[in-house]
Amino acid sequence: MKYLFFMMPAFGHMNPTLTVAEELVRRGEEVVYYITDDFTDSVKKAGAEIRVIDPIFNPLHYFQKKHPEVLQSFTKPPIHLMTQYMNEARLRAHELIDQVKSEKADVAIYDPMCVWGKEMIYTLDLPAATFYSSFAFHKEAPTLQKWVEQHLHPEEKQILHLFTVAEKLNIVSNPKQFQYDAEFFDHRYAFVGPLISDRHVTTDLPLDRLNSQPTLFISLGTILSNAEFYQNCFEAFGDTHWQVILNVGPRTRTEELDSIPKNFIIRPFVPQLEVLKHTDVFISHGGMNSIMEALWFGVPTVAIPQSSDQPLVAERLTQLGLGESIQPDQVTPEQLRESVDRVSQSETVRVNLQAMSHSMRKANPVQQTADLLQSLAKQQAVV
Ligand code: UDP
Repeated sequence: MKYLFFMMPAFGHMNPTLTVAEELVRRGEEVVYYITDDFTDSVKKAGAEIRVIDPIFNPLHYFQKKHPEVLQSFTKPPIHLMTQYMNEARLRAHELIDQVKSEKADVAIYDPMCVWGKEMIYTLDLPAATFYSSFAFHKEAPTLQKWVEQHLHPEEKQILHLFTVAEKLNIVSNPKQFQYDAEFFDHRYAFVGPLISDRHVTTDLPLDRLNSQPTLFISLGTILSNAEFYQNCFEAFGDTHWQVILNVGPRTRTEELDSIPKNFIIRPFVPQLEVLKHTDVFISHGGMNSIMEALWFGVPTVAIPQSSDQPLVAERLTQLGLGESIQPDQVTPEQLRESVDRVSQSETVRVNLQAMSHSMRKANPVQQTADLLQSLAKQQAVV
């Protein structure tokens, strides 16, 4: 059987699907990604095939080319520019239609944010499944709706419809216990949990050394950078007993940072799963993948949500007693130190994390997702 993946070209969207792709390939299935060339290595490592598409399908490339000013202080792009990007990507999708048609795929999996993939799937009427790398959304779900009312700008609400389309199968990479309003989602939604497997990476980080020291890992993910926040971290944890690994992300250069403490190791990107295995406390922006990965490895987290779904993720983490969160405008060195001390010493957090990690692992998310996709492909074959 043949499976096509149409995802947003971003680590947070691609990473969880690559583990499933790898498992499908291991089972003898054919997997193809339509994605920009910056993901060539990751797709090939998963054993899948890649059809390289124009960089313009990546919103970051699009903004770089057409509105570089928005990338200066990038937390999230203004909604009118996001809409502009989506409209152009939908139009450009038609250039790929003949190629996609000739694939004769059994199932096409799309990310609700990947409007160009959905455009092709609907035009060609391909059997589809969605893949959510964050919370699933439902129009009638009260907690989600209340959050939307309180936090989203009217313009931002205009793109919510992207997240309310249910296909025959909708895979959600967080577990049901973590999803808000889980009872509103019917049998078509599979809350499989984090999709984690070896990423086949090598690193120059002294990971073995980390076992002998309390290790604090700080990261705002793959899209954000915040030099002011990093200076706060220097003040909070410089010259303390913590060995700190700081991922400064794509837009802060180490040379821009003043007085880097000796106990900090700084990189623009780290092998996060490997680092988490050696981490005692994680300070994260609250990206869904980062939080799921921390839960998987049972690492207590302090979330400092910056934008998008991160405030919702951070709130859920706190509600479930799995960590804490600090509002970004309230970050001070003292706050950071206190929160890190509290989560690292809390017996409640430790017990809750142990239970969550255990139930996630027991669900065997990668196998479960591959089973679901294979069974969808078989159903389509008999229709
Ligand atoms: N990641 C990584 N190295 C880094 C930073 C992030 O491997 O230095 C991975 C991380 O393991 C996760 C993804 O990139 O799978 C980030 O996704 P998330 O949803 O946490 O945040 P985003 O970067 O999309 O804001």
